[in-house]
Amino acid sequence: MERRDFFKNLTQSIQMPKKKEVVARPAYFSNTEDFAKCMECAGLCADKCETHIIKIAEDKTPYLDFSISGCTFCDECANVCPEGVLQLEYKSDIDVEVYIDPKKCMSWSKNICFSCKDPCLDNAIEFSGMFYPEIVTDRCTACGFCIKYCPTEAIIIKEKVKENDDV
Ligand code: SF4
Ligand code: SF4
Ligand code: SF4
Repeated sequence: MERRDFFKNLTQSIQMPKKKEVVARPAYFSNTEDFAKCMECAGLCADKCETHIIKIAEDKTPYLDFSISGCTFCDECANVCPEGVLQLEYKSDIDVEVYIDPKKCMSWSKNICFSCKDPCLDNAIEFSGMFYPEIVTDRCTACGFCIKYCPTEAIIIKEKVKENDDV
């Protein structure tokens, strides 16, 4: 085998782990295992979403695409869900953490930018003077409305750290 082919085969045989994608779900579920029931459904929640952020993944489960818009917590997805996966009684903040990456944020590099501030109706983005915006987690519902307004895609979603998780 030629040296070039050897290295090509070697690279192909090493499967690099794929970065786990964080999935934001509608704000009305109790247990992620319930989404298995979505196999039986034609994605009715996506049709009803007034901001069109609910998309149906290949596995037929709904996820939120914040690059389009944010969630108004209008309840429509829960009202229409025929399988009881989404229910009004489970309504909560969206189960992700929204985070501003200082490395990507213009304001953290001392360029004036307040693009994310006004879309946040919960006033959850705090600037320190003119710069250094941070999201106050206690006030953030993870609605996602700020995300598409960031010109440098510095606002990202992360998995929420649960109280019992190790820190
Ligand atoms: S609550 Fe309303 S806006 Fe939010 S995901 Fe459900 S249908 Fe869409
Ligand atoms: S309406 Fe309910 S069962 Fe149907 S895709 Fe949405 S969450 Fe799943
Ligand atoms: S900071 Fe949180 S509450 Fe405010 S717009 Fe962004 S996601 Fe919504």
